[in-house]
Amino acid sequence: MKNKYELIYEGKAKKVFSHEDLEKVIIEFKDDATAFNALKKAKFEGKGKLNCLISAKIFEFLKKNNIPTHFLELKNENTMIAKKIKVIPLEIVLRNIAYGSLCKQTTIKPGTKLTKPLIDIYLKNDELNDPLITKDRIKLMNILESKDLDIIIDLTLKINGILQSFFKNIQLQLVDFKLEFGYDLKNNILLGDEISPDNCRLWDLNQKNDIIVSLDKDRFRNDLGGLIEAYSEINRRINDFFKLTK
Ligand code: UDP
Repeated sequence: MKNKYELIYEGKAKKVFSHEDLEKVIIEFKDDATAFNALKKAKFEGKGKLNCLISAKIFEFLKKNNIPTHFLELKNENTMIAKKIKVIPLEIVLRNIAYGSLCKQTTIKPGTKLTKPLIDIYLKNDELNDPLITKDRIKLMNILESKDLDIIIDLTLKINGILQSFFKNIQLQLVDFKLEFGYDLKNNILLGDEISPDNCRLWDLNQKNDIIVSLDKDRFRNDLGGLIEAYSEINRRINDFFKLTK
């Protein structure tokens, strides 16, 4: 992007630029992929665009369902305009099915359906390797007021309800996902970051037998190949859904 806009922050998968309106930012989605706290890195041409388009559609859908989000509008295919937020340094993971780190850290078998959604909260801190954290430790660190943590957990459960049925409609199983929240300039809590196959596990329900077909970043984490094909398939199903429901 031209230097008319100042780069405020660069993360692993996105760049955040200033906007002439101080209440807004411009978010550019990169083609870079990282896993295992950036120990594994690669570039996938077109990933930024797909994640941006998928996130925009999902944020719009969540907004229609009364979830406050930072998303304002698409600027182009790999860039969106969002409300400026002060990001709360917590990663809120919700799991419907046991997979990934939950199975590495416990005796729960991969693929176990959880009788109720499990929320795992991680401290967003690369140096500490994003550790799993407790409510009491969050309190000790004064990261946020406990009433705000309750609001975030409640929003996460609501988002899960909305997204589970949304993805089911397009033949996808929402296994788990990670959310980030922040405060806008008026101190409202908004959903931030992105919602894409980079931070959701999505399994294809169009399978005759019980094999797991991941259409998400596990294609990269587990060297399955076909990441762009999988993300394109998600984007295509989402677009078809909105065409049909218009
Ligand atoms: N996740 C994420 N960013 C992270 C860690 C996890 O977006 O830094 C997402 C991940 O894509 C999955 C969910 O959170 O949808 C649960 O991930 P898990 O804790 O199983 O971690 P992983 O398998 O990456 O070790």
